[in-house]
Amino acid sequence: MIIAIDGPAAAGKGTLARNIAAAFDFAYLDTGSLYRATAKKVLDKAIDPDDAQACTVVALTLHPEDLTVEGLRTEIVGQVASKVSVIPDVRAALLRFQRDFAAEPPGGKAGAVLDGRDVGTVVCPEAEVKFFITASSEVRAERRFKELREAGENVIYARVLAEMRERDERDSTRAVAPLKPADDATVIDTSGLDADQVFEQARSIVAAKRP
Ligand code: C5P
Repeated sequence: MIIAIDGPAAAGKGTLARNIAAAFDFAYLDTGSLYRATAKKVLDKAIDPDDAQACTVVALTLHPEDLTVEGLRTEIVGQVASKVSVIPDVRAALLRFQRDFAAEPPGGKAGAVLDGRDVGTVVCPEAEVKFFITASSEVRAERRFKELREAGENVIYARVLAEMRERDERDSTRAVAPLKPADDATVIDTSGLDADQVFEQARSIVAAKRP
């Protein structure tokens, strides 16, 4: 069983995806980590994020251990991830890994949960269950702001909000695989909900679809 969870930054996708994977004993892939790992290498090697060819080489030569390095969750890596992710060849390079993960979840698990921007529309259009998790930009910026502060980053709220809007705009308007709900996705607005309430809604939908 494949479960696709898409939505904008800090809407609660990751928390929901981890909760569903744990509840049903499915494998979990944070597809954003592939774009972040590419971005981190682009930054570390001082490559221009507009240099499509150089960024594609980085994406093609990514190793599994690159997905777990320190410093993937910073704002700057998120911004550069959103820049390299508009490059069609970068997206193509990262597609195979995501599809393989969904088709053969590691550890012989009976299902896979993937979260990102285009899982339900492009990576796994055949997914049995699709969610589009969203929230107002103010609520999402507030969550990301708290997360970054707790991680020790010296950020200000207005800047987090502005950067989040910029990233949403880029992710939603790019030509290839833009952020948008699949036609058959269940949309959940998490603005006024806590993680348990979101999980409860989603869990019953997954349970009803389980073979
Ligand atoms: O989800 P996360 O914030 O970690 O993703 C970082 C960036 O990677 C996103 O802003 C988006 O540009 C890109 N991304 C994508 N497609 C995905 C997952 C992430 O384009 N499936």
